[in-house]
Amino acid sequence: MTMPEHGRPIDDVIAELNAKRARDVRWQDGRTFGMVYDGGPSVHEVAARAAMLYLHENALNTKAFPSLGAIQADVVRWTADLLHGPQSAAGFMTSGGTESILCAVLAARERGRKERGITAPHMVVPESAHAAFHKAAHLFDIKVTKTKVRADWTADTDAMANAVGRDTVLVVGSAPQYPQGVVDDVPAIAALARASGANCHVDACMGGFVLPFAERLGRPVPPWDFRVDGVTSISADIHKLGYAPKGASVVLYRDKALRAYQTFVFDDWLGGFYASPNLQGTRSGLPMAAAWAVMQHLGIDGYLRLTDATLRNADQLRKGIAAIDGIRVLGAGTYHLVAMASDPAAARSVDMFALGDALLERGWFHDRQGPPDSLHSTVSNGNTGAMDQYLKDLVEAVEGLANKRSADRSTNYATLE
Ligand SMILES: *Cc1c(COP(=O)(O)O)cnc(C)c1O
Repeated sequence: MTMPEHGRPIDDVIAELNAKRARDVRWQDGRTFGMVYDGGPSVHEVAARAAMLYLHENALNTKAFPSLGAIQADVVRWTADLLHGPQSAAGFMTSGGTESILCAVLAARERGRKERGITAPHMVVPESAHAAFHKAAHLFDIKVTKTKVRADWTADTDAMANAVGRDTVLVVGSAPQYPQGVVDDVPAIAALARASGANCHVDACMGGFVLPFAERLGRPVPPWDFRVDGVTSISADIHKLGYAPKGASVVLYRDKALRAYQTFVFDDWLGGFYASPNLQGTRSGLPMAAAWAVMQHLGIDGYLRLTDATLRNADQLRKGIAAIDGIRVLGAGTYHLVAMASDPAAARSVDMFALGDALLERGWFHDRQGPPDSLHSTVSNGNTGAMDQYLKDLVEAVEGLANKRSADRSTNYATLE
């Protein structure tokens, strides 16, 4: 298909976009376990109306759009309060978890360089931590020591302690980590940072808008946020379980001095003073305003309601999987991330990727991950009402597999084209 020589009417263009969507996953029916997190009709409406208002606005320059400066300040403050940041806490909005993590890693490198004279920076990253940390290491030329997880899938903090050296600028924990959904021992990881002078980043891209509400709902939540001494920065994605449209995350620091290491300021070209809070230049106001609007619309009680529904869905999923011979849940996670794998103790051997294919045929989308081969579910409010049907289909799919093996052994957290 080539670019049209002559422009087409709006209705034509939109009709074609609608047609293109026919093969996309049906998240509106609660059939995806990831990618889209559905807060319900009123959340869609407030996001859509805010998005229309800010479709064209640009946060590159908040002198032109002071409203976007105020929106960012509000969202950052609210998030810091949820995560028990001190009054000194400071941060920025970014386009997503990856950008928040890139910024935090860069800040750790710059702090190590300026305060400790480190020229060959190094960071300690558990193998369960998100791939974005490795992307950051690649982009910013930082050496990584990847450490093992324990049998319960949490970071092996002894291995991390052994890996910390003179040039370590950052140690990483996750709350929770993505693959199995368990929360690392953040106090032990933060203690390593305190003892070595390194930063400690807690990746709460997934948990940032779940754990604070789970705690208020009376669920057990280990210490992980700014209440833990030594935690210097945290990432939390509003566009995941914060239920905002894509393009909204927050990176927070314990204070402005730590935050200053992520910013870039330049005043030596022909265009004038250039100050950059994150990795972007031109910066859409749309996701910022939509996130602000969703957070205002939901409020604490709205998030408590969505978190309660989410965790009940996840509990039902874990229980359902445990009741099926041949598959099991990896780890003892209690939040919204569930990894399902074959059960070596069972008589029946299940190929998880063949199971993934069978579920996809029934319209259910999971990430395929590993090692070990497993199907990942990020459960959210969007799955409410679909869980009974899902578990019915899961039982049938497992039964129908016999000894079928999928020829496709690839995993698919993210793709290129
Ligand atoms: C999603 C996620 C990220 C990356 O966030 P993006 O918004 O996809 O860039 C980082 N860490 C964890 C734990 C995540 O779940």
